[in-house]
Amino acid sequence: MATAILSIDLDAIAANWRALDRLSGPEVQTAAVVKADAYGLGAGKVARALAWAGARRFFVAAAEEGAAVRQALGPGPQINILSGHMAGDTEMLNDLELTPMLNSLEQITRHLEALPGHAFGVQLDTGMNRLGVEPVEWQAVAPLLIEAGPAMLMSHLACADEPDHPMNQLQLQAFHEMTDGTGVPRSLAATGGILLGPKYHFDLCRAGIGMYGGRPFEMAERAVTLSLPVIQSREVLPGEIVGYSATWEPEGPAVIATVAAGYADGLPRTLSNNAVLWDGDTPCPLVGRVSMDLITVDVTHLAEVPKSLDILGPHQSVDDLADAAGTIGYEILTALGKRYSRRYSETRG
Ligand SMILES: *Cc1c(COP(=O)(O)O)cnc(C)c1O
Repeated sequence: MATAILSIDLDAIAANWRALDRLSGPEVQTAAVVKADAYGLGAGKVARALAWAGARRFFVAAAEEGAAVRQALGPGPQINILSGHMAGDTEMLNDLELTPMLNSLEQITRHLEALPGHAFGVQLDTGMNRLGVEPVEWQAVAPLLIEAGPAMLMSHLACADEPDHPMNQLQLQAFHEMTDGTGVPRSLAATGGILLGPKYHFDLCRAGIGMYGGRPFEMAERAVTLSLPVIQSREVLPGEIVGYSATWEPEGPAVIATVAAGYADGLPRTLSNNAVLWDGDTPCPLVGRVSMDLITVDVTHLAEVPKSLDILGPHQSVDDLADAAGTIGYEILTALGKRYSRRYSETRG
């Protein structure tokens, strides 16, 4: 049986990283965020392509992800762990030279006791209230901790994809208050923060979704194409129904193509009766419910039933599909199915 093909353009990802890197001054570095298996696209391959393009610093969520990236890159590049130094991580952090971003007094104590002299950064909470050392705690420990020589002080913006949101300015101010005069390299901006402008760039930016072609980096090159095989087709007449719960009936004789991908492959069930697939330049509506392994598509208007239909491609971006599903591009990417055959293209041009 034909399989679904997820084509990943490593050149486009590298070009997007370079484009984001150019948005800040030459003195500002741009790290690559490759957590969650590089947003579902394959951390090893993506990290290697980005290292080749010039990225020297990487961020992942957890130590295990850092181990995979270290294996792909070898010694040298800095690999930062956003979840910090968790219980049980000590050996891995040490053996693989991973740099934890310490998030709490508990993690700070654990790290300084278990791995004195081992590189670390500190994540500060400037108002998102999710991860990081709180301002009051920071006041208490900052003098001592800065003596220990952190590699970086970082924080994360809650609303950077909305340039006019008052949280941006508030968090920027809180970050200044917590870090001015420390002399330690600083990082505040992810993709959204890079686009907010130089005030937000500090010493290091952390590019994620923009590299993978997602909003808010509207200039991004497309990094993924997803082509799904048609495994059967049939004529359906008025009075007949298509799919679970009989949510769709044709108005006239229709040709329905059954396509081999469903919600178990990361196509949200909210796309039911609410998305299009593409035969080249021709849109074809998804009709009926999304099932676990299958979707059904109205191809009545095509001259012949195609062998495959694109759900991500030149006419439909990750964000377009996310909009149809009522979610965000990040979720579409990170849910991309394990059953897809992943094809990487790379010229390193
Ligand atoms: C995920 C993440 C990023 C990257 O964010 P994008 O919006 O994908 O660019 C940067 N920093 C932190 C702390 C993150 O959790």
